[in-house]
Amino acid sequence: MMFKDPVCGKRLPHGKAHVVIEHEGFNYFLCCPRCQTEFEHNLKLYARPELGEKARKLTRLPHRRYL
Ligand SMILES: [Zn+2]
Repeated sequence: MMFKDPVCGKRLPHGKAHVVIEHEGFNYFLCCPRCQTEFEHNLKLYARPELGEKARKLTRLPHRRYL
């Protein structure tokens, strides 16, 4: 399974994500600390359902944060 980083647009396998941020029922996969910072500071721009994936409780994911 691949994800698309909403900040830089890079496509990577789920297991390669630097962090997964769950926000309002959606998972957002970020590739690196820089994209994470950018995402967290511009939630309105990036935390849109069409840029993430519906959060699934049973999936094993990399380090996850909740915002
Ligand atoms: Zn990125």
